[in-house]
Amino acid sequence: MSYYDLLQNINEEIIKCMKCGNCQAVCPIYKETKGESGVARGKIQMAKALLEGRLEYNEKLAELFSLCLTCKACADNCPCGVRPDKIILAVRAALAREKGLHPLKRRIFSVLAKPKVFRLGMNAGSVFQGLGLKRVKGKNLAHPRFPIGLDMRRVIRPLASQSLISELPRINKPQNPQFKVAFFTGCMLNYLYTDAGKAVVDVLNKNGVEVVIPEAQHCCGIPTFVHGDMSTSKKIAKYNIDVFMKEDFDAIITHCGTCIGAWVEHYPEFLADDPEYAEKANKLANKAYDFSQFLIEKVGLKRPEVSLDVKVTYHDPCHLVRGVGVATQPREILKAMPGVELAEMKKPDRCCGSAGSFSLTHYEMSSKIRDKKTEDILSVNPDAVITSCGACRMQLEDGLYQTGADIPVKHLAMLLQEAYQKEGK
Ligand code: SF4
Ligand code: SF4
Repeated sequence: MSYYDLLQNINEEIIKCMKCGNCQAVCPIYKETKGESGVARGKIQMAKALLEGRLEYNEKLAELFSLCLTCKACADNCPCGVRPDKIILAVRAALAREKGLHPLKRRIFSVLAKPKVFRLGMNAGSVFQGLGLKRVKGKNLAHPRFPIGLDMRRVIRPLASQSLISELPRINKPQNPQFKVAFFTGCMLNYLYTDAGKAVVDVLNKNGVEVVIPEAQHCCGIPTFVHGDMSTSKKIAKYNIDVFMKEDFDAIITHCGTCIGAWVEHYPEFLADDPEYAEKANKLANKAYDFSQFLIEKVGLKRPEVSLDVKVTYHDPCHLVRGVGVATQPREILKAMPGVELAEMKKPDRCCGSAGSFSLTHYEMSSKIRDKKTEDILSVNPDAVITSCGACRMQLEDGLYQTGADIPVKHLAMLLQEAYQKEGK
């Protein structure tokens, strides 16, 4: 049984911690709170106390454990190979089992558990969002009109008028394709950043890759997982596995650090004991690639021939760089593009503070973490910021907007698409 189902099973991870405190140096939360409960070492000791019955499951503990971005910086900097992110998520799952989810989360996740209802809700949201959101003049961003669970200062990307899956054909086939892939769009590219989703399909086609978009696919389930709702997370994992097992493809492609982590790491660990799904989850995990990884490692990028004349900086999404180790591939693509100058910011892999719903529930702290990233971006004065994750893109757009800087944030595929389009003119 996984440690997300039985907290005792995380003990092996807990005892590896030698309390050296190396994690303090890299934890974005600790940098803000300066308290031991903010950092991995403190959280590990709280998990130990919980297992030994010295701490109780209560709201205070839930709040302390909610203060983590699951950015994995602590795991990356740990000399003992501890995975504090897993310990923290195991405690969140135990908290949800012992105390139940907050009623609002329970309602939201009950919708997320039903793909058709969720899809209907998102479609209705795109029609009626103007009631709660006010467009920012000249930008595809919006402010809340009143506090609808969003900080009033915040800007977000509104829902697209049409989802990517309903807008694009199911099969997108170039002449003489060398590969056939299934595109797992994730919610951000399907409902908000459809420009990036279209660019993924376009660029893969230009590189001789046929792209199938399974219509029935659903959210990756990580939003429910990070809040400890394991039964919904497993249900969603099985649902997506069923959808993709029906397809015939060489690879699953994602363009989101969190989605790739779901396929490669989390579905296999959620379903490790499931007699029907464990093997399927592992099989699909071995076929899942980030967009840049697939282009560099499998296809061999078709280098654009026309120069773009643009200076960019690249932000590494935490779950992409530390979750699945993709950092060189996006840079290889950028460096292969004529006229693209890659100006590296200081600490490009430092968390942007988004962590999905963390930026909604803890906007103040999320903004402080984000502002450090924004400063790093501004210090290299780029024409555009490139990244590989919709949630990071939204956070960076907010950060830049707050400073008044007019710098676009784009998915990597969009820059490649621009180059190929210019070539065709
Ligand atoms: S989690 Fe790792 S880095 Fe942090 S105190 Fe424990 S052993 Fe040290
Ligand atoms: S995952 Fe990130 S935010 Fe959470 S404890 Fe580790 S370094 Fe801190």
